[in-house]
Amino acid sequence: MRKSNTNMNTSTLRIDVITIFPRVFHPVLNESILKRAQMKGRVSLFVHDLRDFSPDKHRKVDDRPFGGGPGMIMRPEPIFNAIEYIKSDIQDNTASVKSKKRSRIILLSPKGHLLNQDIGKRLAGYRHLIIICGHYEGVDERVRRHLVDEEISIGDYILTGGELPAMVVIDCIVRLIPGVLGEKKSLHFESFEGNLLEYPQYTRPARYRNMRVPSVLLSGDHKKIEEWRQKQAIKITRQRRPDLLRMPGR
Ligand code: SAM
Repeated sequence: MRKSNTNMNTSTLRIDVITIFPRVFHPVLNESILKRAQMKGRVSLFVHDLRDFSPDKHRKVDDRPFGGGPGMIMRPEPIFNAIEYIKSDIQDNTASVKSKKRSRIILLSPKGHLLNQDIGKRLAGYRHLIIICGHYEGVDERVRRHLVDEEISIGDYILTGGELPAMVVIDCIVRLIPGVLGEKKSLHFESFEGNLLEYPQYTRPARYRNMRVPSVLLSGDHKKIEEWRQKQAIKITRQRRPDLLRMPGR
């Protein structure tokens, strides 16, 4: 992306992503709920090619680690340059809006906090997020220490780069922005919204290859349906994620 002179809209969450693979984002960010959220003006997404910010004439963004060791490390200058560019692009005229927190710089890292629904909700409350995708053996420590506000991991495994984690984080956050999902209810009953996993769901046909839908769901008795769903949610949570039932304050 080049300079957009964005006048930051108070109700829009702006997300800037810094990556060496900007093209991989387009198919994902321009489909389904992410696309609709942009069309509704709830979120604006900008993807920046880190190489555009390299001071090197060959657009190099990595170098060997001091002290030796395998692989390459992402150099600090392109990342600092990219962040400064993005910040200069925003005319933040939202000082009057106190309800939303301002800006947060996030580094995707296996060493970060494990992403969950609560982190997603918190981040959905910001006006502006900048997401840095690492690559190679990771990012120069000065970026983490002097630029980054928080590090997020999407699981206890190592991926090649921060691009897939960034898309996971963005998807998680955007569906939590008020007004993005069509029905308020579709969020309310989802797994992790309380301390329960979601109950089993069925659709037509009511009988398929001799497999039947539980009769209570066809009864039209909403009270009984609610009770059945609640029981099923407790049962499945006990079987698969008993730790959730022990979590206070969810
Ligand atoms: N050498 C690093 C380590 O051992 O922690 C792993 C580097 S990884 C190959 C390259 C980049 O992918 C990371 O800098 C990070 O941005 C991203 N990445 C890999 N796994 C991730 C995860 N589980 N969660 C978030 N980001 C991840």
